[in-house]
Amino acid sequence: MFIEPVIGNNTLKDKKGHIEVICGSMFSGKTEELIRRLNRALIAKQKVEIFKPSLDTRYHDRDVVSHNETVIRSTPVQFADDIMLLAGDCDVVGIDEVQFFDKQIVHVANKLAIAGKRVIMAGLDMDFEGKPFDPMPQLLASAEYVTKVHAICMKCGDLASYSYRLTPAKEKVVLGEKDNYEARCRTCFYETKS
Ligand SMILES: [Zn+2]
Repeated sequence: MFIEPVIGNNTLKDKKGHIEVICGSMFSGKTEELIRRLNRALIAKQKVEIFKPSLDTRYHDRDVVSHNETVIRSTPVQFADDIMLLAGDCDVVGIDEVQFFDKQIVHVANKLAIAGKRVIMAGLDMDFEGKPFDPMPQLLASAEYVTKVHAICMKCGDLASYSYRLTPAKEKVVLGEKDNYEARCRTCFYETKS
């Protein structure tokens, strides 16, 4: 179980920033974990801004919605640099589906953290072929705290870290979750591939 970083009593005074990344396959609860952390900051009356790529419009346009319908208000943005302009003087920056942003997101996340913000990002660490999903590797390397969450393999019930695509489409991004993907463990992922 993830233990959140100890945030010192004088965080707001000192403004020491850092980066947290929550990664994993589809159906692993990444967004729920992001929302949990952001909600706790909101309850503590910290200033929170939440962003997601405007490409991801599966659910509602302005909300970060997890599959179990937990909702939190967010701003859809097209480019990573837009976050820089919109983050303003907030204490905490949340970013969902961060794997869909351009490479510039690595620079943006670091800049925000250096400016004293707590940056929490959630994203897919591997694509449907089991390959690292850029720019996640760079974000994981830049983060002080990394949490990998797991789904349950829909074939065998083990812990799953792969997103298996059920449809033959070859593009990297195919949205629409349940009909197109299954969470799988390593064994079941590669079994059906070969
Ligand atoms: Zn399995």
